[in-house]
Amino acid sequence: MADLLPLLLASGEELTRLYARADAVRREYCGEAVPVRAILEFSNYCANECLYCGLRAENAVPTRYRMSADDILAAVDQIAATGVAGTVVLQAGETPGYSDDEISALLRRIKAAHPALAITLSVGNRPRAVYARWREAGMDRYLLRFETSDPELYARLHPNGSLAERLQCLRDLRAVGVQTGSGFMIGLPGETLPTLARNILLCREFDLDMIGSGPYIPNPDTPLGAKPNAYADDPEMFFRAIAVLRLVNPAAHIPATTAFDAVFPGGRDLVLQRGANVFMPNATPTSLRRDYQLYPGKPNVDESAAQFADRAVARLRAIGRPVAAGPSHSLKRPPPEQE
Ligand code: SAH
Repeated sequence: MADLLPLLLASGEELTRLYARADAVRREYCGEAVPVRAILEFSNYCANECLYCGLRAENAVPTRYRMSADDILAAVDQIAATGVAGTVVLQAGETPGYSDDEISALLRRIKAAHPALAITLSVGNRPRAVYARWREAGMDRYLLRFETSDPELYARLHPNGSLAERLQCLRDLRAVGVQTGSGFMIGLPGETLPTLARNILLCREFDLDMIGSGPYIPNPDTPLGAKPNAYADDPEMFFRAIAVLRLVNPAAHIPATTAFDAVFPGGRDLVLQRGANVFMPNATPTSLRRDYQLYPGKPNVDESAAQFADRAVARLRAIGRPVAAGPSHSLKRPPPEQE
């Protein structure tokens, strides 16, 4: 861990070198083409009370919604028709929006209609048996951030769970044989630089297929809302973190996450040149976006769902990067582990 601290503190020429190295490692392991993974926020119901998140159960979100299965299918049809996104990421709060069996049925319908489209699911902690059923139903990948590697900080911010439980879910996902993505927020109030270094190393320990990380953004409608980002005085840290993440996890898919655009104009374009290799545009129907505000300033609330693909292509072209062709990743599944 001590090795990472100087990198996380780099400035001046050292910082320029760090970014150049991260970009070179990304190029060597992932190539120039950028896989596009479209996010569909299909329900904002949530049973949890995470202290930083705008969807927490206690919050008076203007409208709680769940898209109907037909509406989800129509949205996925539109995503597939763009030919730009090789993956749909179905994200929601935790139950009680959709039951586990309803999600299974949904996965089967999507897979039947679009066998070449990879499906990532991101709906929180579940028992291993549920993950296994979802895999059978067609889920290819799962995204479950561990949020922070500090168990005490985790417990303080998540009244409904422990870090140990979250990490067990990640092991369970591995065991049932789906590609596993995780990650953390950068700059949670109460984190220190060694926490950040350990977050990066925990990603390596889990040998993650995908690592999604972005700056923590205070949400005034949450109990944590008055606490600034731990690096509010040094926002360059958000980029250093991604660059170091790339050096430590050279082959992982690292998306340029939405939160980067919320803290810096063009933040996602920058981070794609400092270690990130995946773009995850929002393909949620426009009328619902305002109700999926994890944090304030989430970009593109007025963008039409039909525009996301053209905009993604244009943004990538502007930084000289092509979109990865077709279904961008092998859908070959790792075999389930023996127990
Ligand atoms: N219910 C799913 C998805 C959660 S929302 C699950 O439990 O995994 C997706 C991610 O948004 C979270 O994992 C968290 O890292 C991030 N997030 C939530 N609130 C945020 C905030 N205020 N600032 C930055 N990121 C936030």
